[in-house]
Amino acid sequence: MTARVLVVDDVDANVKLLEKWLTSEYFDVRTARSGREALQICASERADVVLLDVMMPAMDGFEVCRRLKAAPSTQHTPVIMVTALDQPGDRVKGLMAGADDFLTKPVDDLALITRVKNLARLKMLTDEMLMRASTEERLGLADTGNSFGQAGRRARILLVEDRGRAADRIVNVLNGDEHEVEHESDPPSALLRIPDGNFDLVIVSLSLKRSDGLRLCSQIRSLDRIRHLPIMIITEPDEDGRLLRGLDIGVNDYTVRPVDANELLARVRTQVKRKRYTDHLRSRLEETVEMAILDPLTALHNRRYMTSHLKTLFQESVERSKALSLLVLDIDYFKAINDSYGHDAGDKVLREFAARIRRNIRGLDLACRLGGEEFVVVMPDTDLSKAYLVGERLRQCIAASPFYVGDRIGTLQVTASVGVAAREFGDGTPDLMLKRADQALYCAKRDGRNRVVADAA
Ligand code: GH3
Ligand code: MG
Ligand code: MG
Repeated sequence: MTARVLVVDDVDANVKLLEKWLTSEYFDVRTARSGREALQICASERADVVLLDVMMPAMDGFEVCRRLKAAPSTQHTPVIMVTALDQPGDRVKGLMAGADDFLTKPVDDLALITRVKNLARLKMLTDEMLMRASTEERLGLADTGNSFGQAGRRARILLVEDRGRAADRIVNVLNGDEHEVEHESDPPSALLRIPDGNFDLVIVSLSLKRSDGLRLCSQIRSLDRIRHLPIMIITEPDEDGRLLRGLDIGVNDYTVRPVDANELLARVRTQVKRKRYTDHLRSRLEETVEMAILDPLTALHNRRYMTSHLKTLFQESVERSKALSLLVLDIDYFKAINDSYGHDAGDKVLREFAARIRRNIRGLDLACRLGGEEFVVVMPDTDLSKAYLVGERLRQCIAASPFYVGDRIGTLQVTASVGVAAREFGDGTPDLMLKRADQALYCAKRDGRNRVVADAA
């Protein structure tokens, strides 16, 4: 990850040290010695994470943070505030100014790298989301409203802690930020609850009296369905060994006891945002894939998918010497339905037609809409005579009862003609098969429609 980190501090030695650590982790580092310089850099070039010292002359870190969060071009740039250990009030001020996380001086290198990595990842996701959002807006696909601001709020969180007082405190802090917290003291029960719990984050105490919290973390990471769930651990001070094991296992973040409320809230928000952005991008990806292979009107596969999948099925049937057949179905006098009742009624007929086909074929048969009112069903392991019977069953299920197209028009009688063909010895590609099925369909139309004709080859 080559994220660009801007280090802002008025003390030269601090800048040098942070720069050294970050560079050794292959971050691209920029530096600024004052708030004003930091704002200039952020305005003129991209920064993925800003590490901001609170105490600076002229303009302090809070003011810089407020300005960054107020400007549209930098409002999504994550800011980590570097505060003094003896000034806990600074974190409240920082959170109010919009800070995304905190580090205390003297900065610990593990904490630094963990926070910067988390926020750099969040920034990458945010950039991707913003890019998609603007494309979708251009294409007129954008969801109404922009929910970025709320992304880290109202999360469902599972807390795993078996010490009552410690648990109560954390639950209170999280509830105060409007999260919905469930508490579990026993890791095996927690593990059972997670898959269907719709959680955005799991917080695991590493100081459980009766069990090992790290084991739970590793179990979560190894179960397919919940692998991506963000995990945060709570460690004791001087527990670096276990903390490193945790980060190795794939724990996303940690906080050290005594837990600072504001620090906890900031980190929870980051993890929750990251989870939600990732989920969103993943589901958009699935939709995009679906759009590429499904016909939007009927949700059957489209011609493109059929063409490519038929090739595979054809190859397989040749290699294994298995039968393969297909049906071409075409609605009779469909143009007349459109002409008499309108395009919407026609669309309803197409949807119902597709639904009836889907209900009357096997799971391994492939149904698709070729275009217009023409459909294809590909049937592996099926010879011509069986395919004819399936065609006849489909014809009957169309003709048997009229199609309902809404209260105004009521129902319409619909029939279809069907052509059937099977793979013949010597067919080099599926094209010949399709052609023979088309010829059979033509015969069915010619002979009066509402009938099934098998290729006579
Ligand atoms: P035949 O019995 O010979 O098949 O006659 P037909 O009227 O069904 O066939 P033709 O190919 O002449 O007409 C097909 C019509 O299907 C013409 C076209 O406007 C209509 N059509 C194609 N795609 C759609 C669609 O997505 N929705 C609707 N409502 N109509 C469509
Ligand atoms: Mg037709
Ligand atoms: Mg037609």
